[in-house]
Amino acid sequence: MNGTNRLEIVSPNNVLANAMLRSVDMVRPRLQATNPDRVAFCVGTQINGAPHLGTSLVQTAAFLLAKQTKRAFGVDTIVRFGALDNAPYDIQLDPETHHAYQQTYFHALGSDGVEDLLGKYYRAMFDSLADATGVDYEIETYTAQQADPAFRHEFLATLGRLDQIRWPLAPSHGQVHVRLPCPQCGWTEKRAERTRLIRTGSGGADFAAVCTDHGDYEVVVTADTSAYLDLATLYRNLVKERMAVRDHVTLSVMVKGGDWSYGCQLVDEAFAQLPGLAPPPRIFTPMVLTDTGAKLSKSLIRDGRVAPPPGARPWMLDVTDWEGDTDDFVDAMVWLVGKMLADPKHFYRSYTTAELDKIMTARPSATTTPRAREMNLYRRYFDLVAAGTKTIEVRVQYPNLRNLAAGDHIRFVCGRDDALTRVKRVARYSSFEEMLDTEGPERVNPTSPRDQQLANIRRIYGPEKEALGVLAIEIELIPGPIP
Ligand SMILES: [Zn+2]
Repeated sequence: MNGTNRLEIVSPNNVLANAMLRSVDMVRPRLQATNPDRVAFCVGTQINGAPHLGTSLVQTAAFLLAKQTKRAFGVDTIVRFGALDNAPYDIQLDPETHHAYQQTYFHALGSDGVEDLLGKYYRAMFDSLADATGVDYEIETYTAQQADPAFRHEFLATLGRLDQIRWPLAPSHGQVHVRLPCPQCGWTEKRAERTRLIRTGSGGADFAAVCTDHGDYEVVVTADTSAYLDLATLYRNLVKERMAVRDHVTLSVMVKGGDWSYGCQLVDEAFAQLPGLAPPPRIFTPMVLTDTGAKLSKSLIRDGRVAPPPGARPWMLDVTDWEGDTDDFVDAMVWLVGKMLADPKHFYRSYTTAELDKIMTARPSATTTPRAREMNLYRRYFDLVAAGTKTIEVRVQYPNLRNLAAGDHIRFVCGRDDALTRVKRVARYSSFEEMLDTEGPERVNPTSPRDQQLANIRRIYGPEKEALGVLAIEIELIPGPIP
């Protein structure tokens, strides 16, 4: 190390890393067994204020794992972001029983307020991650998920074995936390001390609960009722994972912070008590640790209970403190997590803030190569772009492409090959026909007649995608060695 920009991560071998060559090989056993059409990398985050480094690390890992899985196994991939708007917004003690009552972010802020938080802290980062990796993403709130009849049905199906699963889900007392907010005020007992299951059958379940202000109330949960169904973390994950593994078209891979490796042992116990399904593959990402070996906790530092650990930069505690724009932060995270993923020994471990600070300080400055969006292409189109004969690339207007403009760079990827291009012009059309007739089919594909191109494009993009709007992206190849 000569003090400037050379730093090697040194990691010991471990049981997991010793068993594999690439970090993404974690998904291979299930890919081989089930041969799905696509793989969804699922990452959940509590929506409760500015994210810290640990959150960004898990999210970046999900996008990079999706990108590497697509390249390594030739399967379509996507990132699914679960926005946990059931995180507690406020907690108060019942004056008589001293039971804790809580109100979720959704109940406190409403769906517009949750949408504002998503926009403020996550959408720009995800758009940027999607550009940098060529992986699309979807966002679903917990509130939307619990309203899905499939989720509610999966929950109801567990109630018949409640006596078996309540011990793994609540090993100290067997009291599972099913939270059914008061229909009048939206508050609910956090630990469900006075929530009782009165009746359960194939079609639904009746619960009784007590509100501090409104007294006794009953809630009927069926697949279709609108009663809000909130579950404690382990129970929620059990239901979510069981729902996910029923999908044989899309393989769900859960991407979770490393501390979940402990919690999932109990979810697995509960799985074993229920009929028929194995848990989905899970990938645990590196934890961010303090010098004591504990997980970095923003709230402990904020409350003054521990000092910021060595090397903990302000942006590590609150990523909105990063000096630079979102693309710059995402580039830094992609670089960092890419370093970790490069070797299973570096990925299946944790890092202290001091070590992360050292690694980030050694990061080469990003000014030498332009930031490029990644886009995937089928081989027949990629070869035309690489030859410089295809000068118009066609896309539909996905949200992450709304800012695409002349001067941007796009790196087209096909398998292990890539081609760097510069955007000369972006034109927007309302249909593929209008686009082909204005741009000229020979610039989109010099080897194929107009009508055949139209048929091919419409096979890739259905009418609902075309309705988003059509982009014609004029590109020029940047020749020379690919950096
Ligand atoms: Zn109430």
